[in-house]
Amino acid sequence: MSTQPDRASKLTLAGTIDQVAEANFLGRKIPAVQRRSAARLIAGRLGLPGGYAGAFAETAAERSRTVRVFTGENLGRNARRRHVLAEEACRSLRLLGRTTAHASAALQAADNRLLAQIAQVRARHPDTPRGTFCCPFCTVSVWRHATAGGLRTFAPELRAGLRHLRSRRDAAGGWRTYPFFYTLSALLEINLPAARAELRHAAPRCARLLRKLRAQAPYAERRRELLRRVLAAV
Ligand SMILES: [Zn+2]
Repeated sequence: MSTQPDRASKLTLAGTIDQVAEANFLGRKIPAVQRRSAARLIAGRLGLPGGYAGAFAETAAERSRTVRVFTGENLGRNARRRHVLAEEACRSLRLLGRTTAHASAALQAADNRLLAQIAQVRARHPDTPRGTFCCPFCTVSVWRHATAGGLRTFAPELRAGLRHLRSRRDAAGGWRTYPFFYTLSALLEINLPAARAELRHAAPRCARLLRKLRAQAPYAERRRELLRRVLAAV
């Protein structure tokens, strides 16, 4: 396994999302030409086969590959992967800012479709805790999309989602069934005291991991920087 994200996948939906997320994470400005081509690639995947709820779909070439989120957790091959990629694709378009009219329209359509899907699934599963959706992985992707400015009607539920996360705390400084690093990445962006409280819960584990994380571990650089940011934020 490589220690860093797969650069060769940059023409895939997941590869494009990863590049945009990295530039955002590192505070690196993407040149306008590249912003437009990234937006065009993502927007062009709207409503294609294999997409979640008619939102942005993977390319045929990447469907057989392993896909990881920005923090390195493997998305597997089920509906979760399609959903997380759709939310992350929307987030990417938001991070890219104004690019083309087509991209803005595609983002609006995808956002509406994802909100409609959330409402529909919740109607079928009324016991789903407020501020969460489907599974922990999907929930974190929804939080990341909402904190980037999407899913307007879901965003007010973030507080409730954080209360749920708190109820999932484990003794090791994480949260039962929640992907640790991916969850940290969302918490760092949620500007609410309840998010800081969860980061404080995770801080001792972050300090331990920072000492232990091997240089060759997958996504080690990003994870190390993420851990440093958590420790600086609490
Ligand atoms: Zn899910």
